[in-house]
Amino acid sequence: MDIRIGNGYDVHALAAGLPMWLGGVQIPSENGFVAHSDGDVAIHALCDALLGALALGDIGHLFPDTDPAWKGVDSKLLLEKVVSLLAEYGYMAGNVDITIALQQPKLAPYINPMRVTLANILGLTPDRVSVKATTTERLGFVGRGEGCEVWATALVIGGIGHGGGCGGHGGHGDGHCGCHGEGEGHCGCGHHE
Ligand SMILES: [Zn+2]
Repeated sequence: MDIRIGNGYDVHALAAGLPMWLGGVQIPSENGFVAHSDGDVAIHALCDALLGALALGDIGHLFPDTDPAWKGVDSKLLLEKVVSLLAEYGYMAGNVDITIALQQPKLAPYINPMRVTLANILGLTPDRVSVKATTTERLGFVGRGEGCEVWATALVIGGIGHGGGCGGHGGHGDGHCGCHGEGEGHCGCGHHE
């Protein structure tokens, strides 16, 4: 079994008259997030944490904002694609922890719906999905109500599915570690003899 950890960070500006999506849940608010996608800053940070655990870049790289395919896209779809990508490499999330900094509205009523929504996409039970919200005591751009800032940490567990984690062993030989089944354990999957 291979255990990896990743972190993710994202910021979106707030503007009047836009829908506010956070953690896959729509939050009643006069303001929403300025973005090419639906602006779900929590899901974006989570995607980056998952991708970071496998050193697969970030969602800006995977889903560029120059691509019209992602215009206004539901970020839950982006998370689904990231989860599928991890599975291709033989990995899945073990647990995730997300901290949202937003001055208003208060997010307490939406925390559990976010946990359930994200857990369903991650293939986890909600007790493995933590979502925390804080204000910044009116300090900084978050405190002035100009934007939202999110940090995410994800533990990712390998050795599931084909290829024993790195995908290069006894499988189709094209794993991300590049060893093609003939390496000497540099990918840490423990499948090299
Ligand atoms: Zn974003």
